Parts: sequence; C-alpha cells; structure tokens
Amino acid sequence: MDTIVYPGSFDPVTRGHMDIIQRARRLFPKVVVLVAFNASKTAFLTAAKRVELLRACVAEEGWDNVEIDSHAGLVVDYLKARGLRVLLRGLRAGGDFEHEFSISLMNRRLWHDVETVYLPTREDVMGVSSSLVREVARLGGDLEQFVPKPVEIALRAHFSGEK
Ligand code: ADP
Repeated sequence: MDTIVYPGSFDPVTRGHMDIIQRARRLFPKVVVLVAFNASKTAFLTAAKRVELLRACVAEEGWDNVEIDSHAGLVVDYLKARGLRVLLRGLRAGGDFEHEFSISLMNRRLWHDVETVYLPTREDVMGVSSSLVREVARLGGDLEQFVPKPVEIALRAHFSGEK
C-alpha cells in the first residue's frame, strides 16, 4: 500500500478536508496533504499560511502519519519527484464529480502512471467549502462547525483587522 497525496487549495482547510484526511490516514500508511498553488492565481491566504494552518490542525489532532507540503506547478511533477503515484480527492454531491473526473483524465494524460482515489464526503460536512467559509468569516458568522479551531482563530484575526 502506497503513500497517498491529497492535493488541493485548502484556502483555508475546512472540517470537510479534515474528515477526508482522517479517513485516509486509516486506509493508507501515510498521507501527504499538498497545498498546490499557482503563482499567477490569486488566493485568499498565502500558500505559507495555508501550510501553517494545516500543520496546526493536524498537530492538534495528533495525526502522526500525515505530512503537509506545498508545490507550485503540476501535481504529477510533484509525484514523480517523490516517487509516488496515487492521488486522493474528496467528492461532494453535485458538481464535484464532473470536475474531478476531468482533472483525473488530464492528470493521466500528463502521466499515465498516476491513479486517483476518491472518498465520498460525510453527510454532516457535505455543504462545507473553503469559499463558503471565507464568506461566513467575512460576514462575522459562527465558524466553529465548519473549520478547526486554528483556522477559526486565524480567520477571526484576519477579518477583525479589516474592520
Ligand atoms: P481545489 O481547489 O483543488 O478543488 P479544495 O481545497 O477546494 O481544492 O479541495 C480539495 C479536495 O477536497 C477536492 O477534491 C474537494 O472536492 C475536496 N473537498 C472539499 N471540501 C470537501 C467536503 N466538504 N467533503 C469532501 N471533500 C471535500
């Protein structure tokens, strides 16, 4: 069984992502959560901050077989460089499938050895997305049910500084 790489924006990490990581770490010996960023795409948090928050959330849970890393560029290039070939993605009901399916086809065209494994979302975090979390945070709503504590604190600090 291989190490699995879970790539995404994690802008910021949510309870939906944490659920996928927690379930994957029971199925695979090691999970690498990869903040994949594109220098020309504007994000909400910097890649360094997203990595820092993921590390804080994983440390808080005591998940010792989860590593956090970041990479600017193609995810398949990251896999090749590390001698890995299995990707993990989460699937929510609705539009995720079409989007995820085209990403997996594109990745396979870029490198035929890559495989993608999907975990379906858990019902209670199905509607949670980073974009909605950013919106709720901006409007001062309750974040606890959507994000782990370190993210809640960071978002509060971010938006209180804006006011
Ligand atoms: P990206 O910008 O690459 O889609 P995201 O950080 O938004 O990155 O998501 C990373 C992965 O996590 C994607 O496969 C996405 O479908 C999945 N994901 C996000 N939120 C949830 C959730 N609530 N439940 C299950 N999977 C999720």
